[in-house]
Amino acid sequence: MLWAGRTMRILIVEDEQRLRDGLVDLLSAAGHEVTAIGDGRSAVEVGTATGFDLVLLDLMLPQLDGIEVCRRLRQARPALPILMLTARGSETDKVAGFAAGADDYVTKPFGVRELLARVDAFARRASAAPAEPELVELDGCTLDLGRHLASRDGRETHLTAREVGILRWLHRQRRRTVSRAELLERVWGTSGDLQTRTVDMTIAKLRQKIERDPAEPRIVVTVTGAGYAWGEPEP
Ligand code: CA
Repeated sequence: MLWAGRTMRILIVEDEQRLRDGLVDLLSAAGHEVTAIGDGRSAVEVGTATGFDLVLLDLMLPQLDGIEVCRRLRQARPALPILMLTARGSETDKVAGFAAGADDYVTKPFGVRELLARVDAFARRASAAPAEPELVELDGCTLDLGRHLASRDGRETHLTAREVGILRWLHRQRRRTVSRAELLERVWGTSGDLQTRTVDMTIAKLRQKIERDPAEPRIVVTVTGAGYAWGEPEP
């Protein structure tokens, strides 16, 4: 029954202590590294600052609800897998969860087997995908995506969660061009009321922080008529 493969770093966000403790015991026993948190605000802080492989996220949380936590985590880390824990039979919860960027959900109350099977599915997917780096160097700039820092010529600049989100997504998709609409959807978590110009303005600011010459970008490059691309395309 236990997954004997890859160990995952899992963040559990659940305010109900008995359930939280149960999940910690279960997933630790299955060989994973587990961090547990009981409120939404701390979940966003810890989840954006640390590289987790999976987040188990309860929907009803104090301080910040699960949907908002999901949206903010997704913004900072577009590729972070999120498994939402929803109440029984609530279709609205599921729809809202997916809209906020959750990858999958389990319905409470869930059985041990069901939950482990879901987590194993994420572990298998994670083994198949290349790991996301925390440190990326390009054109003389070192990007510390975990600590939200860019450094060039010994000078460190803080990056916002949104900027890190853009960098992560472009790096992850570095074999292709990414459209403005895709960045809006992936990094902002919406395509509704925001304009693609928002993307251009955010990228202009980002270039001031990371590029040697913002007028001639080599890290986040413009692909005319198509969008943006990571500066060093892989063959
Ligand atoms: Ca709850």
